[in-house]
Amino acid sequence: MKKLRQEIEHCQACALHRGRNHVIFGEGNPHAPIVLIGEAPGAVEDKTGRPFVGKSGQLLEKILNVSGFNRDEHVFLTNIVRCRPPNNRPPGREEVDACISFLHRQIELIDPAIIVTLGATALKNYLGDNSLKITKLRGKWLEYKNRQVMPVYHPSALLRSPHLKKDTWEDFKLIISRYREEINPDHYSAYF
Ligand code: SF4
Repeated sequence: MKKLRQEIEHCQACALHRGRNHVIFGEGNPHAPIVLIGEAPGAVEDKTGRPFVGKSGQLLEKILNVSGFNRDEHVFLTNIVRCRPPNNRPPGREEVDACISFLHRQIELIDPAIIVTLGATALKNYLGDNSLKITKLRGKWLEYKNRQVMPVYHPSALLRSPHLKKDTWEDFKLIISRYREEINPDHYSAYF
């Protein structure tokens, strides 16, 4: 993990390195049973060097807290690309292609049982299939490289469209249940 961090922090493999203040390596338990994958760092992440600390990150933190999960023990948070795209646009094909191997290597090192993809960009690019639709697949378990994958909406979508929160809570019930089955039957969640 240390070697991977050094590689990522010095990476200039795509044009996004030119506008960055920080490369976002990821954060959480390096042996976490759950890895959450987002799209890309936003302005606050670029400024602080930490993933999911802006408004959508704060909402994700609330969802995780109520589910009984935290960054120290249960989860590791990472992204499809690690430098902020200008104006928060989605990362382009060349940028994803340059960065995606870091994600796969990171996941192999962490070796989680459960992966949660946050939003369409994470779903399509982690699974390498651009035809996948978040609206059809959210809340359904998928299997990829012998891991269970749960697609959910990105927290920024919940901020834009609060009516989607209900679906996300249902999806997190499934994640909590799977965590109890696979990792800890006594896992406590204030929600479910
Ligand atoms: Fe390297 Fe990824 Fe940053 Fe592009 S986005 S410069 S591939 S770390």
